[in-house]
Amino acid sequence: MEALLAALGGAIIGSFLNVVIARVPAKESLVSPGSKCPSCGTPIKAYDNVPIVSWLLLRGRCRSCGERISPRYPLVEALTAAVFAGVVLAGGADADLALELPFAAVLIVIAFIDLDHRIIPNRILLPTAIYGLAVGALVDLDAMPEMLIAGAAAFTFLLVAALAYPAGMGMGDVKLAGVMGLFLGVAVAPALLIAFAAGAAVGVAIIAKEGAAARKKGVPFGPFLAFGGIVAIIVGSEMVDLYSDRFL
Ligand SMILES: [Zn+2]
Repeated sequence: MEALLAALGGAIIGSFLNVVIARVPAKESLVSPGSKCPSCGTPIKAYDNVPIVSWLLLRGRCRSCGERISPRYPLVEALTAAVFAGVVLAGGADADLALELPFAAVLIVIAFIDLDHRIIPNRILLPTAIYGLAVGALVDLDAMPEMLIAGAAAFTFLLVAALAYPAGMGMGDVKLAGVMGLFLGVAVAPALLIAFAAGAAVGVAIIAKEGAAARKKGVPFGPFLAFGGIVAIIVGSEMVDLYSDRFL
């Protein structure tokens, strides 16, 4: 029941995340004007703006002009619904959700903005860091030293990686890793491990498919960090426990 509610809320939040993904890089307001068809400019009516459902009913086309509407909109909504449900299923409905759900939403936004524009905006990272510190202190003050150390460690680790491979990573990735540490604590370690493993796997797959020249195009690293971060929100503490039970 809680997971179902989380999925429903996630779909609605996901609809808003589509707005954030489109408007933050363009430096546009998030509240006005309302959503419009990108082709004909017709304002989208509330009944045509129901997450996932409207896109399916309209078969992915604008009601006014019939132009195709990208399947990415319902995809972001479905992804957010699935991630929110996963977070609630794994961790239960507790105070941590005040950190976990907003952070998961931010990671989804960052992944798509970085894919589109190859930037991770400070206008997202800075408020997220402040939110993480403020709400983190409210939810669990005792955990703050761990969060700060994890943030500094993840920032430093990515900074070294970015200096070693300037083509693959930018300062946006370095700052994102620091923010991830603030939210994840020790679980930022498996998050970074997953990010690098996924990035390497996709890199190898691209080279196998398109040849070594494809490497020059480069793939932004932000989506991999976001992926690792979301996995860590859901099962990060279990991964840390598993590791410490076995090796420490
Ligand atoms: Zn239209």
